Amino acid sequence: MNELSRDSLHRFLFEDCPVRGKLVHLDQSWRAILERYDYPEPVRRILGETMAATVLLASTVKFEGQIAVQIQGDGPLTMVLIQCSNKLVLRGLARWQGEFDDASFRQLMSNGKMVISIENDADNQRYQGVVPVTGATIAESLGEYFDRSEQLPTRLWLASGDDAVAGLLLQRMPEKVVASDEDFWDRVCLLASTIKAEELLDLPERQILNRLFNEDDLRLFDRLPVSFRCNCSRERVENMLKSLGADEIRGMVEEHGGVIVHCEFCNKGYEFDRIDSEGLFLSDLPAGDPTVH
Ligand SMILES: [Zn+2]
Repeated sequence: MNELSRDSLHRFLFEDCPVRGKLVHLDQSWRAILERYDYPEPVRRILGETMAATVLLASTVKFEGQIAVQIQGDGPLTMVLIQCSNKLVLRGLARWQGEFDDASFRQLMSNGKMVISIENDADNQRYQGVVPVTGATIAESLGEYFDRSEQLPTRLWLASGDDAVAGLLLQRMPEKVVASDEDFWDRVCLLASTIKAEELLDLPERQILNRLFNEDDLRLFDRLPVSFRCNCSRERVENMLKSLGADEIRGMVEEHGGVIVHCEFCNKGYEFDRIDSEGLFLSDLPAGDPTVH
């Protein structure tokens, strides 16, 4: 087993046809996510595939912002959420109910839907797309999303293992092509479909591309690092507690002597004792009366 972290994304281009691609390989950040909860195997597989897919999608975001892929359902798998910024910093988790050893994607999902949100930091705009989970895999369901949205034709291939997750994305560029090349998109997708999960997980990027597209002229770009980091902060937790209201918080303090909030993504604990808790609502006092101390 390779202990070195690869946590990386590689872009590549076909020199002779308007297709670009990305390869992602995550190991250290995958282990960081697995450390938080003891996910049952089928949930882990879907979480991993969603993680690889979200990083691939985030790498197509052209502005400062982040993308979130959320899968919701009322079956055993209730929620999967991965967030990734355009700088390729990610976090994520899954929630499930009941016990199961093995189940297919379809068995885990009931009334599933996939929500893809893209947030632009500059103008706080949020674009959201929702598709029902109809495919048999995460990649198929995302294919549905791309078919329905007016984006560039895009296909993904995903793999999730115990020590790593990986993925391949192909995107057709809008450039016109000569008639003889019309079938290039189908051809490269057909070739990509021959990739096996273990090849995506185990082989170096150059070897994957040689194995799939050895007759094409490709340009492989330098590695971009991907990392796991949670953007939770005491300030965010304070705002969340404030939104619950003073009565609710005082009730918790009466009962437990304080409030401890654990971040669901990274498990970090934020403690608020009696004084901290009161401090949250100090600014709610009427201002400007010097006799109030
Ligand atoms: Zn956190």
